[in-house]
Amino acid sequence: MRLLQEQNFHSERAVIRVDFNVPLNDEFQVTDKTRIQAAKPTIEYILSQGGSCVLLSHLGRPKGRDPKLSLKHIVNEVSMILGVSVLFCDQTVGSEAVSMASALEPGQILLMENLRYHQEETKGDEAFAEQLAQLGSVYVNDAFGTAHRAHSSTTIMAKFFPEKKCFGTLLANEVKAIDKVMKDGESPVVAILGGAKVSSKITIIESLLEKVDHLIIGGGMVYTFTKALGGTVGNSICEPDFCDYALELLEKAKSKGVEIHLPVDVVAGNDFSNDATQKVFEVRNIAEGWEGLDAGPKSCENFHNLILKCKTILWNGPLGVFEFPNFSKGTISIGESIGQATKSGAFSLVGGGDSVAAVKQFGLASKMSYISTGGGAMLESLEGKTLPGIAALNA
Ligand code: AMP
Repeated sequence: MRLLQEQNFHSERAVIRVDFNVPLNDEFQVTDKTRIQAAKPTIEYILSQGGSCVLLSHLGRPKGRDPKLSLKHIVNEVSMILGVSVLFCDQTVGSEAVSMASALEPGQILLMENLRYHQEETKGDEAFAEQLAQLGSVYVNDAFGTAHRAHSSTTIMAKFFPEKKCFGTLLANEVKAIDKVMKDGESPVVAILGGAKVSSKITIIESLLEKVDHLIIGGGMVYTFTKALGGTVGNSICEPDFCDYALELLEKAKSKGVEIHLPVDVVAGNDFSNDATQKVFEVRNIAEGWEGLDAGPKSCENFHNLILKCKTILWNGPLGVFEFPNFSKGTISIGESIGQATKSGAFSLVGGGDSVAAVKQFGLASKMSYISTGGGAMLESLEGKTLPGIAALNA
């Protein structure tokens, strides 16, 4: 992994793939600045070394040049966050783009128009990648959120910088955090997997069985397991087609020495709504007309005791329907347990979609060692895949 610090940026023009795919409201204001803030250390470092920066990003999924998805909407926000007045080019490639980029002085930043105005980008078109490469003298990839895509800007353009390409700080930190769990996690390692369905987590579960000592299964996935084990699940979300697989998984875990932990009790509702009447059931004995929507108090206590014994913790997926405040206790409780373990020296990584949203929503973010910025990229990393954007930098 070639880091920023190993590259000379003095009088160089760094073309940086960032992930500025931020949410905008109807007035085109940025409603979550996390991704822009996350790119700041890389940009600041390059400027401090006497370089200039050309920023490449996509925004949304435009069909052609959709003005609503122009990156011009975010220029002021980027300038404010970086504390530098950022220039904007309404082209992404071509003579005007190259001439604006070439005119940059050290210390200046130029944001190019949305990469996905060009359909070649997502096709990984090589000629388009070559045009992008003309915008700078060094290639830096700092877009973890798109590192699992073999697009022109995220992967293909790296080949045009055989000697001058490196990981941005954010991308490097993401890779280090994943390696700390998947490659050299201190034992005991626990993975907490929640979310709605077993079917969408199969490859992750299989991959984690090779890496962890304990696997906590929570959320809607629980009921496929309990049904497979002969329990009654009432109206809980359940995938009967995956019951055999669930049993296979339990056997596989046993043979690999991985302990699987399921909840022993659940908080059920008589309806799928926040205001449903609540009742706690043993997990294997949910009555007809009730659906398990959160982990129960005894389960939370068991998980807490286990998590506090672990040195490496991975969390992906909520333990219940956390969007309903009345069924969010299990998710909050697990977050707090992880926070406490982290305070006592464990390494914790939260990644992949809804658990990140939950951690932010419940004010637990500062208690975790690392929160991933990438959804799909994180999930593919947990599946054990090598991401094309990362492979291209290492080539
Ligand atoms: P995923 O994207 O697979 O991580 O799933 C996240 C979703 O799982 C969230 O929207 C949760 O509301 C949902 N979820 C968690 N627990 C349950 C449950 N017991 N029943 C139904 N949905 C659940």
